[in-house]
Amino acid sequence: MEKFAEVALPVPMRRNFSYRLTPAQASSAMPGCRVKVPFGRQQLIGVIAIISDQCDLPAAQIKNVTNLLDEQPLLPPALLLLIERGARYYLSSLGQMLTQALPTALRKGASSEAKHETYLQLTDAGAALTVVDIKRAPAQIKLWQALQRGAISKDTMQQLELSPAALKTMEQKGWISRKEVAPSQDLSWRQQLTLLEQPLSLNTEQAIAVGAINSRQGFYTSLIEGITGSGKTEVYLALLEQVLAAGNQALILVPEIGLTPQTIDRFRRRFKVNVAVIHSGLTDNQRLSAWQQARSGEAAIIIGTRSALFTPMEYPGIIILDEEHDSSFKQQEGVGYHARDMAVMRGQLENIPVILGSATPSLETLNNALNGRYGHLSLNARAGNAKKVRQGIIDIRNQPLNCGMSAALINEMRQHLDAGNQVLLFLNRRGFAPALLCHECGHLHECDRCDAFFTVHQALNEICCHHCGNQYPIPRQCHQCGSTLLAGQGIGTEQLEQTLSHLFPQYPVVRIDRDSTRLKGSLERHLTAIHRGEYKILVGTQMLAKGHHFPDVTLVGLLDVDGALFSADFRAPERFGQLYTQVSGRAGRATKPGTVLLQTHQHDNPLLKELLHKGYGDFARNQLKERGMALLPPAWHMVLVRAEAHQAEDADALLQAIANLLPQDKEFEIIGPLPAPLDRKAGKFRRQLMFQAKDRQRLQRECERILPLVTGLAETKRCRWSFDRDPQDLL
Ligand code: ADP
Ligand code: ZN
Ligand code: ZN
Repeated sequence: MEKFAEVALPVPMRRNFSYRLTPAQASSAMPGCRVKVPFGRQQLIGVIAIISDQCDLPAAQIKNVTNLLDEQPLLPPALLLLIERGARYYLSSLGQMLTQALPTALRKGASSEAKHETYLQLTDAGAALTVVDIKRAPAQIKLWQALQRGAISKDTMQQLELSPAALKTMEQKGWISRKEVAPSQDLSWRQQLTLLEQPLSLNTEQAIAVGAINSRQGFYTSLIEGITGSGKTEVYLALLEQVLAAGNQALILVPEIGLTPQTIDRFRRRFKVNVAVIHSGLTDNQRLSAWQQARSGEAAIIIGTRSALFTPMEYPGIIILDEEHDSSFKQQEGVGYHARDMAVMRGQLENIPVILGSATPSLETLNNALNGRYGHLSLNARAGNAKKVRQGIIDIRNQPLNCGMSAALINEMRQHLDAGNQVLLFLNRRGFAPALLCHECGHLHECDRCDAFFTVHQALNEICCHHCGNQYPIPRQCHQCGSTLLAGQGIGTEQLEQTLSHLFPQYPVVRIDRDSTRLKGSLERHLTAIHRGEYKILVGTQMLAKGHHFPDVTLVGLLDVDGALFSADFRAPERFGQLYTQVSGRAGRATKPGTVLLQTHQHDNPLLKELLHKGYGDFARNQLKERGMALLPPAWHMVLVRAEAHQAEDADALLQAIANLLPQDKEFEIIGPLPAPLDRKAGKFRRQLMFQAKDRQRLQRECERILPLVTGLAETKRCRWSFDRDPQDLL
């Protein structure tokens, strides 16, 4: 009998495509195997979704599968199901969801079987060394210490940023040898788990959290709401110990910016197991090899950013999402999936626990914890015995400001610096100045392709649009009147850095933002220098608020919070609450008490007061109530339709046509079409339509009903459009 494959292809059409399998292909093809197939004039690589005995197409129209690329399914059934459910939930095609889920090398047709790999190990002579023998070669000591924990691959060596020069020397001295490891996997960790360092003894709250999670079997989601420094990571490590000892693997997801060698090292230091690291900086081959190690079970721990969620595990044991509130877990391009929500789906499909940890949980997760759908564990004590931070508001109405800083803040800075401590200033605007102003005619220079001002980058001698990347040399004359009296308007981190080095010449300043950390490894280098005390003043954007601990910082200043609090986005207060709490958490660890000062024109603002006096926990619980009253997520469920076109009317017409397809009643609300907050970007007009429903299932049904109709609308021809389920960013 003839066999047909329904194939998911990386195309926007929300359906699969049928092809005929030859008898030879049919004998080994299975759902989850890749095939190469003709599509129009090209050959595409897709994944078999279903194999069936019949095909609705007329026989003459059915094309043959060109090649079957796998003998075994690429993904286990649970992951295929996850991708199917994800595609459905996020209103995308199965093929597009697969594109997010598979490493690029596999999408291009690489073999999914592992190749031989080169490992480095200490020779007997190398193992017999002591630190004294290698004296004065720190790079060698570092490599030697890493190898003492076991053989490592060349890829791992690169990830740990170990020195190739040190390797060469130590090989020449006969201390290190190489071995080629065949893809026969080393699964010895499953028989015997070795701890490389003793766990800390847990405090009461940590022990309760570990006990509560370990007492459950199978799928269960728990929120660990623990203030910064309360020892969440130590809890993860304790949970891992159980999971690994039982022979199961752990998947750990961290925000993009949180995946530093220090983070990875904490897991490597504790367990003598293979740790696979997956992030966007890997080459296609490195990524494939990490994926293979995870799939075979050789990597006991898989740690990575958003897309690592889709890494297959032979022995799934637990999924942990750290800093679960972080916005980098939501994909913005292509399929707008949320790694947190899909992690919970995956946990359910693989029947394993899911742990969500944060000092500042998202309102979605908090809601699930408060209504009992998720377990809820709290860590309120700072591990070790750091003191609580002192907080204050500086009312800057009518105050003279020096580059955005009040006299009160500068005084306080001086005291902390003179006492030998570090100071952190937070300003969420990179560049020198957020606009270029003509002093004579008042003209503000605007990007010619966006509805936005140019940011001045003095060090680069450029004006640059942060929305489309458009850039020009800083003009000498006003575009409007020709005057040469041009000046930056407003303050960015670059200017702040400059002013501070004049104000405090004896205290070195470092700036941490996207511009200063563009080069690979530069963030790492800055952070190391900060830890060594080479810098005294830290200036930065939200990059500074995430995940990094600065034990010698005793003063944190937030320069301009008014903009952050008031924004068109309903998530603005939540985001601000998280940011404020995270930035504050950087201060006063260890034994030094910390101070946080916040400059504002709104010293009476009730949200600010609540945040400062009651803390994020109460603030977030109140925000949740307000969202409920305003019928906003997570109380209601939201979809944002975006449309972009060269003519604004075209985008409006499409969105209006979509709105006309939808119901409107007390439990289904439509807002728009409206201009997006950034109305014009890269030369295109951007409009949006928001719809919300009280019932999640109903929202799903309506979306599935209208999507095929939308695809058929004539108005789609002149627009780019997309559906964003649970939008995080309304821009
Ligand atoms: P979080 O992840 O919540 O920010 P960490 O796990 O990084 O917190 O812990 C903060 C600091 O406290 C670390 O230096 C860690 O080694 C230490 N710590 C954590 N748990 C304990 C404990 N039970 N006893 C002593 N120190 C601890
Ligand atoms: Zn002018
Ligand atoms: Zn622009």
